[in-house]
Amino acid sequence: MSKIILTADRPTGKLHIGHYVGSLRNRVKMQNELKKDDVMYVMVADSQAMTDNTGNIQKVKNNLIEVALDYLAVGLDPKKCTIFIQSEVPQLTEFTFYYMNLVTVARLQRNPTVKSEIQQKEFGRSIPAGFLTYPVSQTADITAFNANLVPVGEDQLPVLEQSREIVRTFNSMYAPILVEPEAILPDNKACLRLPGLDGKAKMSKSLGNCIYLGDTEEEIKAKINKMYTDPNHIKVSDPGKVEGNVVFTYLDAFATDESFKEFLPEYKNLDELKQHYTRGGLGDIKVKKFLFEVINKELTPIRARRQQYAQHKDEVYKMLFEGSDKAQKVAQANLDKLKHAMNIDYRAEFYKNKK
Ligand code: ATP
Ligand code: MG
Repeated sequence: MSKIILTADRPTGKLHIGHYVGSLRNRVKMQNELKKDDVMYVMVADSQAMTDNTGNIQKVKNNLIEVALDYLAVGLDPKKCTIFIQSEVPQLTEFTFYYMNLVTVARLQRNPTVKSEIQQKEFGRSIPAGFLTYPVSQTADITAFNANLVPVGEDQLPVLEQSREIVRTFNSMYAPILVEPEAILPDNKACLRLPGLDGKAKMSKSLGNCIYLGDTEEEIKAKINKMYTDPNHIKVSDPGKVEGNVVFTYLDAFATDESFKEFLPEYKNLDELKQHYTRGGLGDIKVKKFLFEVINKELTPIRARRQQYAQHKDEVYKMLFEGSDKAQKVAQANLDKLKHAMNIDYRAEFYKNKK
Protein backbone atom coordinates (compact mmCIF):
# COMPACT_ATOMS: atom_id res chain seq x y z
CA MET A 1 0.00 0.00 0.00
CA SER A 2 1.37 3.41 -0.88
CA LYS A 3 1.94 5.89 1.90
CA ILE A 4 -0.27 8.93 2.17
CA ILE A 5 1.06 11.07 4.96
CA LEU A 6 -0.66 14.09 6.45
CA THR A 7 0.38 16.34 9.32
CA ALA A 8 -0.46 19.80 10.49
CA ASP A 9 0.43 22.53 12.94
CA ARG A 10 -1.67 25.30 14.36
CA PRO A 11 -0.39 28.78 13.46
CA THR A 12 -0.69 30.03 17.04
CA GLY A 13 3.01 30.84 17.31
CA LYS A 14 6.36 30.01 15.82
CA LEU A 15 7.33 26.35 15.93
CA HIS A 16 9.60 25.13 18.69
CA ILE A 17 12.01 22.31 19.42
CA GLY A 18 9.10 20.23 20.82
CA HIS A 19 7.56 20.23 17.35
CA TYR A 20 10.95 19.52 15.89
CA VAL A 21 11.74 16.37 17.85
CA GLY A 22 8.10 15.30 18.19
CA SER A 23 7.11 15.58 14.58
CA LEU A 24 9.03 17.82 12.16
CA ARG A 25 12.28 15.83 12.24
CA ASN A 26 10.31 12.67 11.42
CA ARG A 27 8.42 14.42 8.63
CA VAL A 28 11.57 15.54 6.88
CA LYS A 29 12.95 12.03 7.09
CA MET A 30 9.72 10.56 5.70
CA GLN A 31 9.61 13.17 2.96
CA ASN A 32 13.09 12.19 1.86
CA GLU A 33 12.19 8.50 1.82
CA LEU A 34 8.98 8.79 -0.23
CA LYS A 35 8.65 6.15 -2.95
CA LYS A 36 7.06 6.65 -6.34
CA ASP A 37 3.38 6.44 -5.36
CA ASP A 38 3.73 7.90 -1.88
CA VAL A 39 2.53 11.40 -1.15
CA MET A 40 2.84 13.77 1.75
CA TYR A 41 0.69 16.72 2.78
CA VAL A 42 1.64 19.30 5.36
CA MET A 43 -1.11 21.64 6.46
CA VAL A 44 -1.07 24.92 8.31
CA ALA A 45 -4.20 24.47 10.44
CA ASP A 46 -5.42 28.04 10.57
CA SER A 47 -9.13 27.22 10.82
CA GLN A 48 -8.41 24.94 13.72
CA ALA A 49 -6.33 27.62 15.43
CA MET A 50 -9.32 29.95 15.18
CA THR A 51 -11.41 27.63 17.36
CA ASP A 52 -9.65 28.93 20.45
CA ASN A 53 -8.47 32.27 19.09
CA THR A 54 -11.71 33.68 17.73
CA GLY A 55 -11.07 37.03 19.34
CA ASN A 56 -7.55 37.18 17.94
CA ILE A 57 -7.61 36.03 14.36
CA GLN A 58 -4.83 38.48 13.61
CA LYS A 59 -2.51 36.28 15.69
CA VAL A 60 -3.40 33.27 13.56
CA LYS A 61 -2.92 35.29 10.38
CA ASN A 62 0.48 36.59 11.48
CA ASN A 63 1.69 33.13 12.39
CA LEU A 64 0.66 31.50 9.14
CA ILE A 65 3.80 32.72 7.44
CA GLU A 66 5.92 32.00 10.52
CA VAL A 67 4.91 28.34 10.48
CA ALA A 68 5.53 28.16 6.73
CA LEU A 69 9.01 29.61 7.28
CA ASP A 70 9.64 27.02 9.98
CA TYR A 71 8.62 24.25 7.58
CA LEU A 72 11.01 25.40 4.90
CA ALA A 73 13.73 26.02 7.45
CA VAL A 74 13.68 22.45 8.78
CA GLY A 75 13.86 21.12 5.25
CA LEU A 76 10.31 20.40 4.15
CA ASP A 77 10.44 20.81 0.42
CA PRO A 78 7.40 21.89 -1.66
CA LYS A 79 8.84 19.89 -4.55
CA LYS A 80 8.50 16.73 -2.51
CA CYS A 81 5.41 17.43 -0.41
CA THR A 82 2.28 19.57 -0.69
CA ILE A 83 2.26 22.38 1.85
CA PHE A 84 -1.10 24.14 2.11
CA ILE A 85 -3.43 26.31 4.16
CA GLN A 86 -6.47 24.66 5.77
CA SER A 87 -8.93 27.51 5.15
CA GLU A 88 -7.93 27.59 1.48
CA VAL A 89 -9.43 24.12 1.07
CA PRO A 90 -13.17 24.66 1.70
CA GLN A 91 -13.95 20.99 1.02
CA LEU A 92 -12.55 20.25 4.48
CA THR A 93 -15.42 22.17 6.07
CA GLU A 94 -17.93 20.05 4.19
CA PHE A 95 -16.30 16.82 5.31
CA THR A 96 -16.41 18.13 8.88
CA PHE A 97 -20.10 18.93 8.62
CA TYR A 98 -21.02 15.39 7.60
CA TYR A 99 -18.78 13.77 10.22
CA MET A 100 -20.21 15.95 12.98
CA ASN A 101 -23.23 13.62 13.13
CA LEU A 102 -21.09 10.52 13.56
CA VAL A 103 -19.84 11.47 17.02
CA THR A 104 -21.64 12.42 20.21
CA VAL A 105 -21.02 15.49 22.34
CA ALA A 106 -20.40 13.18 25.32
CA ARG A 107 -17.68 11.30 23.43
CA LEU A 108 -15.96 14.57 22.48
CA GLN A 109 -16.10 15.76 26.08
CA ARG A 110 -14.43 12.53 27.20
CA ASN A 111 -11.52 12.87 24.77
CA PRO A 112 -8.43 13.13 27.02
CA THR A 113 -6.61 15.62 24.75
CA VAL A 114 -9.60 17.88 24.40
CA LYS A 115 -10.35 17.57 28.11
CA SER A 116 -6.86 18.61 29.20
CA GLU A 117 -6.69 21.43 26.66
CA ILE A 118 -10.05 22.75 27.87
CA GLN A 119 -8.62 22.81 31.39
CA GLN A 120 -5.36 24.38 30.29
CA LYS A 121 -7.18 27.08 28.33
CA GLU A 122 -9.52 27.71 31.29
CA PHE A 123 -12.67 27.63 29.19
CA GLY A 124 -14.79 26.54 32.15
CA ARG A 125 -18.30 26.08 30.82
CA SER A 126 -17.72 28.44 27.88
CA ILE A 127 -16.16 25.94 25.49
CA PRO A 128 -16.43 27.10 21.87
CA ALA A 129 -18.36 24.40 19.98
CA GLY A 130 -15.71 24.54 17.26
CA PHE A 131 -13.00 23.75 19.81
CA LEU A 132 -14.90 20.82 21.28
CA THR A 133 -15.36 19.39 17.81
CA TYR A 134 -11.79 19.84 16.60
CA PRO A 135 -11.16 16.08 16.52
CA VAL A 136 -13.95 15.95 13.94
CA SER A 137 -12.33 18.55 11.72
CA GLN A 138 -9.02 16.77 12.17
CA THR A 139 -10.69 13.62 10.88
CA ALA A 140 -11.89 15.62 7.89
CA ASP A 141 -8.36 16.85 7.21
CA ILE A 142 -6.97 13.33 7.31
CA THR A 143 -9.66 11.55 5.32
CA ALA A 144 -10.03 14.28 2.68
CA PHE A 145 -6.62 13.12 1.47
CA ASN A 146 -7.12 9.44 2.25
CA ALA A 147 -4.12 9.72 4.55
CA ASN A 148 -3.05 6.47 6.19
CA LEU A 149 -0.11 7.80 8.22
CA VAL A 150 -0.09 10.76 10.59
CA PRO A 151 3.19 11.66 12.33
CA VAL A 152 2.23 13.36 15.61
CA GLY A 153 3.37 14.02 19.15
CA GLU A 154 2.00 11.79 21.89
CA ASP A 155 -0.52 14.44 23.01
CA GLN A 156 -2.46 13.87 19.80
CA LEU A 157 -3.00 10.11 20.18
CA PRO A 158 -6.51 10.32 21.68
CA VAL A 159 -7.53 12.67 18.87
CA LEU A 160 -6.31 10.21 16.30
CA GLU A 161 -8.12 7.40 18.07
CA GLN A 162 -11.29 9.41 17.73
CA SER A 163 -10.60 9.82 14.01
CA ARG A 164 -10.32 6.08 13.68
CA GLU A 165 -13.66 5.68 15.42
CA ILE A 166 -15.34 8.17 13.09
CA VAL A 167 -13.87 6.35 10.09
CA ARG A 168 -15.20 3.02 11.36
CA THR A 169 -18.63 4.51 11.99
CA PHE A 170 -18.73 6.03 8.51
CA ASN A 171 -17.59 2.82 6.87
CA SER A 172 -20.18 0.69 8.62
CA MET A 173 -22.99 3.18 8.13
CA TYR A 174 -22.42 4.01 4.47
CA ALA A 175 -19.69 2.19 2.54
CA PRO A 176 -16.18 1.09 3.47
CA ILE A 177 -14.33 3.81 1.58
CA LEU A 178 -12.34 5.52 4.35
CA VAL A 179 -8.95 4.38 5.63
CA GLU A 180 -8.22 4.20 9.37
CA PRO A 181 -5.21 6.45 9.87
CA GLU A 182 -2.24 5.32 11.89
CA ALA A 183 -0.19 7.58 14.16
CA ILE A 184 3.56 7.67 13.74
CA LEU A 185 5.38 8.51 16.94
CA PRO A 186 9.06 9.30 17.29
CA ASP A 187 11.16 6.26 18.35
CA ASN A 188 12.98 8.22 21.01
CA LYS A 189 10.87 8.32 24.19
CA ALA A 190 12.07 11.78 25.22
CA CYS A 191 10.66 13.15 21.98
CA LEU A 192 7.10 11.94 22.51
CA ARG A 193 6.20 14.96 24.58
CA LEU A 194 9.08 17.31 25.14
CA PRO A 195 8.55 19.18 28.42
CA GLY A 196 8.65 22.96 28.66
CA LEU A 197 11.64 24.98 29.83
CA ASP A 198 9.72 25.49 33.08
CA GLY A 199 9.42 21.73 33.64
CA LYS A 200 5.71 21.74 32.69
CA ALA A 201 4.55 18.55 31.04
CA LYS A 202 4.64 19.94 27.52
CA MET A 203 6.52 22.57 25.61
CA SER A 204 3.71 24.49 23.98
CA LYS A 205 3.32 27.71 22.05
CA SER A 206 0.34 28.61 24.19
CA LEU A 207 2.32 28.20 27.42
CA GLY A 208 5.29 30.31 26.32
CA ASN A 209 7.84 27.83 27.66
CA CYS A 210 9.66 27.16 24.41
CA ILE A 211 12.92 27.33 22.54
CA TYR A 212 11.82 28.39 19.07
CA LEU A 213 13.44 27.13 15.90
CA GLY A 214 14.28 30.70 14.94
CA ASP A 215 15.77 31.72 18.32
CA THR A 216 19.19 33.38 18.21
CA GLU A 217 22.23 31.89 19.95
CA GLU A 218 21.88 34.42 22.74
CA GLU A 219 18.22 33.62 23.26
CA ILE A 220 18.89 29.89 23.42
CA LYS A 221 21.75 30.41 25.85
CA ALA A 222 19.67 32.62 28.14
CA LYS A 223 16.74 30.19 28.09
CA ILE A 224 18.94 27.19 28.87
CA ASN A 225 20.65 29.03 31.70
CA LYS A 226 17.31 29.68 33.35
CA MET A 227 16.17 26.08 32.95
CA TYR A 228 14.77 24.02 35.75
CA THR A 229 17.05 21.18 36.91
CA ASP A 230 17.07 19.20 40.17
CA PRO A 231 16.15 21.64 42.97
CA ASN A 232 18.14 19.55 45.50
CA HIS A 233 21.32 19.66 43.44
CA ILE A 234 22.74 22.79 45.00
CA LYS A 235 26.49 22.24 45.32
CA VAL A 236 28.50 20.63 42.52
CA SER A 237 29.38 17.78 44.89
CA ASP A 238 25.71 16.99 45.62
CA PRO A 239 24.30 13.87 44.01
CA GLY A 240 21.77 14.93 41.35
CA LYS A 241 18.57 13.50 39.93
CA VAL A 242 18.26 12.84 36.23
CA GLU A 243 14.59 11.85 36.16
CA GLY A 244 12.35 14.86 35.79
CA ASN A 245 15.43 17.01 35.16
CA VAL A 246 14.51 18.84 31.99
CA VAL A 247 18.11 19.49 30.97
CA PHE A 248 18.67 15.75 30.78
CA THR A 249 15.38 15.16 29.00
CA TYR A 250 16.49 17.59 26.29
CA LEU A 251 19.84 15.81 26.10
CA ASP A 252 17.93 12.54 25.66
CA ALA A 253 16.14 14.15 22.72
CA PHE A 254 19.14 15.79 21.08
CA ALA A 255 22.53 14.43 22.17
CA THR A 256 24.25 11.65 20.25
CA ASP A 257 27.61 9.96 20.82
CA GLU A 258 28.91 12.30 18.12
CA SER A 259 27.89 15.31 20.23
CA PHE A 260 30.12 14.01 23.02
CA LYS A 261 33.06 13.57 20.68
CA GLU A 262 32.62 17.12 19.48
CA PHE A 263 31.73 19.07 22.62
CA LEU A 264 32.41 16.96 25.73
CA PRO A 265 35.02 14.32 24.91
CA GLU A 266 35.72 13.44 28.55
CA TYR A 267 32.47 11.42 28.45
CA LYS A 268 31.75 8.69 25.91
CA ASN A 269 27.99 9.04 25.96
CA LEU A 270 24.94 10.28 27.81
CA ASP A 271 24.88 7.31 30.15
CA GLU A 272 28.32 8.21 31.48
CA LEU A 273 27.30 11.83 31.95
CA LYS A 274 24.13 10.80 33.77
CA GLN A 275 26.07 8.44 36.04
CA HIS A 276 28.45 11.23 37.02
CA TYR A 277 25.59 13.63 37.72
CA THR A 278 23.78 11.04 39.83
CA ARG A 279 26.96 10.29 41.78
CA GLY A 280 27.68 13.94 42.47
CA GLY A 281 30.57 16.12 41.36
CA LEU A 282 29.08 17.42 38.13
CA GLY A 283 27.66 20.93 38.05
CA ASP A 284 24.57 22.15 36.23
CA ILE A 285 26.55 24.85 34.44
CA LYS A 286 28.71 22.33 32.64
CA VAL A 287 25.72 20.21 31.61
CA LYS A 288 23.81 23.26 30.44
CA LYS A 289 26.76 24.48 28.41
CA PHE A 290 26.89 21.11 26.67
CA LEU A 291 23.15 21.20 26.04
CA PHE A 292 23.52 24.65 24.51
CA GLU A 293 26.26 23.43 22.15
CA VAL A 294 24.19 20.45 21.06
CA ILE A 295 20.95 22.34 20.44
CA ASN A 296 22.73 25.27 18.86
CA LYS A 297 24.51 22.99 16.42
CA GLU A 298 21.19 21.48 15.30
CA LEU A 299 19.44 24.85 15.07
CA THR A 300 22.19 26.85 13.36
CA PRO A 301 21.46 25.69 9.78
CA ILE A 302 17.70 25.86 10.46
CA ARG A 303 18.01 29.44 11.69
CA ALA A 304 20.10 30.43 8.67
CA ARG A 305 17.61 28.95 6.21
CA ARG A 306 14.76 30.60 8.08
CA GLN A 307 16.39 34.01 7.76
CA GLN A 308 16.92 33.44 4.05
CA TYR A 309 13.30 32.48 3.36
CA ALA A 310 12.08 35.36 5.54
CA GLN A 311 13.51 37.69 2.93
CA HIS A 312 11.27 36.13 0.26
CA LYS A 313 7.87 36.04 1.95
CA ASP A 314 5.98 36.66 -1.31
CA GLU A 315 7.44 33.47 -2.74
CA VAL A 316 6.51 31.60 0.42
CA TYR A 317 2.88 32.79 0.17
CA LYS A 318 2.77 31.74 -3.50
CA MET A 319 4.13 28.33 -2.56
CA LEU A 320 1.29 28.00 0.01
CA PHE A 321 -1.35 29.02 -2.54
CA GLU A 322 -0.05 26.57 -5.13
CA GLY A 323 -0.06 23.83 -2.52
CA SER A 324 -3.61 24.77 -1.55
CA ASP A 325 -4.78 24.54 -5.18
CA LYS A 326 -3.30 21.07 -5.44
CA ALA A 327 -4.85 20.03 -2.14
CA GLN A 328 -8.27 21.35 -3.21
CA LYS A 329 -8.33 19.07 -6.25
CA VAL A 330 -7.58 15.98 -4.22
CA ALA A 331 -10.05 16.93 -1.49
CA GLN A 332 -12.80 17.58 -4.06
CA ALA A 333 -12.30 14.21 -5.72
CA ASN A 334 -12.51 12.49 -2.34
CA LEU A 335 -15.52 14.58 -1.35
CA ASP A 336 -17.31 13.38 -4.49
CA LYS A 337 -16.59 9.81 -3.42
CA LEU A 338 -17.82 10.52 0.09
CA LYS A 339 -21.09 11.97 -1.15
CA HIS A 340 -21.52 9.05 -3.49
CA ALA A 341 -21.04 6.67 -0.57
CA MET A 342 -23.61 8.64 1.43
CA ASN A 343 -25.93 8.49 -1.57
CA ILE A 344 -26.27 12.27 -1.72
CA ASP A 345 -24.55 12.87 -5.06
CA TYR A 346 -27.83 14.18 -6.44
CA ARG A 347 -26.50 15.71 -9.63
CA ALA A 348 -24.38 12.78 -10.71
CA GLU A 349 -27.33 10.45 -10.09
CA PHE A 350 -29.83 12.74 -11.85
CA TYR A 351 -27.78 13.09 -15.01
CA LYS A 352 -26.82 9.43 -15.08
CA ASN A 353 -30.49 8.50 -15.09
CA LYS A 354 -31.17 10.90 -17.97
CA LYS A 355 -28.70 9.15 -20.26
P1 ATP B 1 -0.95 24.98 20.86
O1 ATP B 1 -0.53 25.29 22.24
O2 ATP B 1 -1.43 26.15 20.07
O3 ATP B 1 -1.86 23.79 20.76
P2 ATP B 1 1.29 23.27 20.32
O4 ATP B 1 2.63 23.75 20.77
O5 ATP B 1 0.58 22.22 21.09
O6 ATP B 1 0.39 24.56 20.12
P3 ATP B 1 0.36 22.13 17.83
O7 ATP B 1 0.32 22.95 16.60
O8 ATP B 1 -0.92 21.88 18.57
O9 ATP B 1 1.43 22.77 18.82
O10 ATP B 1 1.03 20.71 17.52
C1 ATP B 1 1.64 20.37 16.30
C2 ATP B 1 2.30 19.01 16.36
O11 ATP B 1 3.45 19.04 17.20
C3 ATP B 1 1.40 17.91 16.95
O12 ATP B 1 1.66 16.73 16.23
C4 ATP B 1 1.86 17.78 18.36
O13 ATP B 1 1.63 16.50 18.86
C5 ATP B 1 3.36 18.06 18.23
N1 ATP B 1 3.88 18.66 19.47
C6 ATP B 1 3.50 19.84 20.01
N2 ATP B 1 4.18 20.08 21.13
C7 ATP B 1 5.01 19.02 21.34
C8 ATP B 1 5.98 18.67 22.35
N3 ATP B 1 6.21 19.46 23.36
N4 ATP B 1 6.65 17.50 22.21
C9 ATP B 1 6.43 16.67 21.17
N5 ATP B 1 5.54 16.94 20.19
C10 ATP B 1 4.83 18.10 20.27
MG1 MG C 1 -1.57 21.67 20.51
